Amino acid sequence: LLILGIETSCDETAAAVLKNGTELLSHVISSQITTHQKYGGVVPEIASREHLLHFQQVVEKAMAGAKVDYGDLAAIAVTYGPGLVGSLLVGVAGAKAIAYAAGVPLIGVNHLEAHIYANFLVHPHLVFPCLALLVSGGHTHLILLRGHGDYEVLGRTRDDAAGEALDKVARTLGLGYPGGPQVQKAAAAGNAAAFDFPRAMLEPGSLDFSFSGMKSAVLNALNTARMKGINLGVPDLAASFQQAVVDVLVRKTLLAVEQTGVTHVLLAGGVAANDLLRKTLTQELKEREGRLFFPPPHLCTDNGAMVASAGYHRYLARDFAPWTLNAVPGLNLT
Ligand code: ATP
Ligand code: MG
Ligand code: FE
Repeated sequence: LLILGIETSCDETAAAVLKNGTELLSHVISSQITTHQKYGGVVPEIASREHLLHFQQVVEKAMAGAKVDYGDLAAIAVTYGPGLVGSLLVGVAGAKAIAYAAGVPLIGVNHLEAHIYANFLVHPHLVFPCLALLVSGGHTHLILLRGHGDYEVLGRTRDDAAGEALDKVARTLGLGYPGGPQVQKAAAAGNAAAFDFPRAMLEPGSLDFSFSGMKSAVLNALNTARMKGINLGVPDLAASFQQAVVDVLVRKTLLAVEQTGVTHVLLAGGVAANDLLRKTLTQELKEREGRLFFPPPHLCTDNGAMVASAGYHRYLARDFAPWTLNAVPGLNLT
């Protein structure tokens, strides 16, 4: 059972062919990072034009790499939201054209669900219920998964997403885009206890997040130091900020475990590639007889394989999209 997964929601043009839900036959990503780097973030207009340039090549490479013909596919799965509207439209229109021409059904995939389903590629025997900490460039959600397609969002960020905060702080520290990997790299040479940035826990029992205060504290520390002519060390700032972000993510996740009694947790989204987050949560859950699951780093950030994985489970449920499928930039998980 072959699924072609297509992803164009942000700045990665990606496609992958997945066999029987776990066997990745090909996996192609054309990243626009170098194009957007000089602006310090993704420029939507440029992103959609870049997708148009690379779409066909990426899909053909994925099909050739898997050594399959379009007619062999059981379905084509494509991200239709959330994301940048112009970027999404390229993927949706392209996937429709291929599916129609090949006489293959189309499946619309939610990008957030796809991030979660990256876990099923490597851990096919995951059992429900489980919790998911979805930490990406635009989202920070704690989710209770009751079954395939059956989700409850228990908490979410009230301001910045974790990845967004990392990207903004990285930019201020002159570390470049995308910020998460750069902060992690710089932090390796720093002291995580050098600065005590605030960890917003919100109301007692709340599973929501807030990262904007923490982010402002870094900017204030930098500005105050600059006015006094003091040069703060970037590694110490990066390490302390990374520690503060991870502390909040870990404490909220453990609170969700406590409140639900569910001890199996999945990490999803680009920030799930973070070593400190993986290590800390793995350790904390072990102490509570729980377990942490996460995809390899290259399947945490945007890719076509996770879309194919979510598409595979939609296929099993015979959940196909009509030819009128449209991009939904603000698509929710539930
Ligand atoms: P969304 O999925 O919410 O629509 P997105 O697709 O742009 O947003 P992802 O591709 O899931 O986001 O993740 C990108 C984010 O992950 C960026 O904010 C990036 O800084 C962060 N990130 C990537 N690697 C790491 C890492 N090793 N440590 C921390 N953050 C990381
Ligand atoms: Mg990206
Ligand atoms: Fe993403």
